[in-house]
Amino acid sequence: MRLVLLGPPGAGKGTQAKLLTAKCDAAHVSAGDLLRQAVADGSELGQTAKPIMAQGALVPDGVVIELIEKRLRRPDCAGGYILDGFPRTLRQAEALSEVLKLLHAPLDMVLSVEVSEDDLVRRLAGRRICRACGSMFHVDTKPPTRVGVCDNCGGPLLQRDDDKEDTIRHRLRVYREQTEPLIAYYNTMGLLRRIDGHGTIEEIAERIHQTVGDGQEQP
Ligand code: AMP
Repeated sequence: MRLVLLGPPGAGKGTQAKLLTAKCDAAHVSAGDLLRQAVADGSELGQTAKPIMAQGALVPDGVVIELIEKRLRRPDCAGGYILDGFPRTLRQAEALSEVLKLLHAPLDMVLSVEVSEDDLVRRLAGRRICRACGSMFHVDTKPPTRVGVCDNCGGPLLQRDDDKEDTIRHRLRVYREQTEPLIAYYNTMGLLRRIDGHGTIEEIAERIHQTVGDGQEQP
C-alpha cells in the first residue's frame, strides 16, 4: 500500500500514520521527522532547515524532495509506505508523481484528514513530546502521570518550538495557502478520500481503517 496522508498540522497525521503502518506492514515516512533528525545531527541540511522550521514556514522544495526521494528508494519502502507531511506544495506533489513514475509504483490512495481550526490550535498548543523516546502526550487529553516526565521512559517532556500559539497560526496559514490546493490535485487524479478528523484517536483510526480497507478491496 502506497499512501499519502494529507492534513493540517495537528490533524493527527503522525499518530495515525504510525497506527496504519503497523496494520499495513508499510514503512512510515515522515518529512517532519526526517528534517528534525537532520537538525539533531547538525548536518548542513539540518542547519538550513532549523530556523525555517522554528518559524513554522516550509523548508525549500528542493531540499525536502531530495530527502524524500532518497528515503523512498530505501529497501523498507519497497513493500509500501505511508507518506506523512509530504507533499506539502504542488511542486512537491508533481515531483513525487515523477519519481513514482520512474519507480513504476504509483500511489494507491491519498487520505485528507479534516479538522476545524479551533480544534487544531487546542491540540497543538497542549502537545508535549518526550525528548528521549518521542512519545506524545497532551496536557488535557493524554496527560503524563508526572507533569513533564515521560510515562514510557522517564525522559523530559518538551513543547516543540513550533507548537507555540503564534507559530501554530502561521503554520495553519501556510497549510491553507500551500498545501490545501493538493486536495483538488489528488481529487482530479481520483485518489482522494476525505476523513473526518474529529473525535478520539481510536475513532479516527477506525474511519481510516474502513476507508483503506474499502480501497484495498477495489479491483
Ligand atoms: P511536521 O512534523 O509535519 O508538522 O513538520 C514540521 C515542520 O517541518 C514544518 O512546519 C516545516 O517547517 C517542515 N516540513 C515538514 N514537512 C515539510 C515539507 N514537505 N516541505 C517543507 N517543509 C516541511
